Amino acid sequence: MINQVNGATKILGIIGYPVRHSLSPVMQNAALRACGLDYVYVPFEVAPEGLGSAVAGLKALGVSGFNVTIPLKTEIMQYLDELDSSAETAGAVNTVKNDAGRLIGYNTDGDGLIRSLANELGFDVRGASVALLGAGGAARGALAALCRSGARRVVIANRTRERAVELASSIAHHFPATELTVVSGFEELEECLAEIDALVNTTSLGMIRDSPLPVRLDLLPRSAIVYDMIYAPPVTPLLREALRLGLKGANGLGMLASQGELAFAIWTGTTPPFGLMKSVLDGISDC
Ligand code: NAP
Repeated sequence: MINQVNGATKILGIIGYPVRHSLSPVMQNAALRACGLDYVYVPFEVAPEGLGSAVAGLKALGVSGFNVTIPLKTEIMQYLDELDSSAETAGAVNTVKNDAGRLIGYNTDGDGLIRSLANELGFDVRGASVALLGAGGAARGALAALCRSGARRVVIANRTRERAVELASSIAHHFPATELTVVSGFEELEECLAEIDALVNTTSLGMIRDSPLPVRLDLLPRSAIVYDMIYAPPVTPLLREALRLGLKGANGLGMLASQGELAFAIWTGTTPPFGLMKSVLDGISDC
């Protein structure tokens, strides 16, 4: 079946601003076809000032579910009927399910990261010391998921230190078993790198060609892994340096695929074929 729309076809989608660059429609529709499910997944460009009416419209139209992307992940929360604990602790929603007229918000970004660390790099977060670069929206979901998955310690470094302090204090009380440390910027982070098992970049530094390295990766142990959430460009200066030093590293394409697999299962109750979304994305990014 090739997403042939008929009277019974259910609608899924993504809202964001802008949204035309999104890779989600291609990978989600490929998975829907592979599973023989009668759904289509479409992009909806929604400006922040129109978010309330857009959500009311999606609900009134009976859309089965949708993803939420930049810059609407926090703003959307006020328009939902219920929040899953994943969204509540992260303070952000990237997936909404329409459950018989009730809109329920989830966050699959963080667990997408954890899955990608395991799938791409064979890395298990349990008991690990992680350096988290950044304190924006992506860092929020990542930090909550790292703590939930049993990280022993997370050291957070951000250009604007106050944002990192605010992030840590909003998450810490949910996860007393994880030690959270905020350092004053990337230079101070370098002092801790010798004890770090995984360095995760959630900043947008690296999206620009020839951007400077935030930290010296040669200070990491040789067993450490480096994960850059950025996937365009596919190899950022940070990732290139990690690979040059012989460290294991991956970009954010696996996380994008994994958060999509988790959302797909929430909407449809079906697990998409393992690796299908990632291989669709690899095909696009190779072009
Ligand atoms: P955001 O909320 O705007 O946060 C941006 C972060 O980057 C902040 O920590 C900011 O620091 C930092 N930053 C920006 N420019 C910087 C610079 N020149 N030097 C140092 N730090 C800088 O954005 P976001 O939603 O967290 O997204 C961040 C990145 O993650 C984006 O590249 C996005 O594409 C990627 N992402 C990937 C996935 C995936 O599935 N792979 C999912 C979500 C996000 P300040 O606080 O100091 O401004």
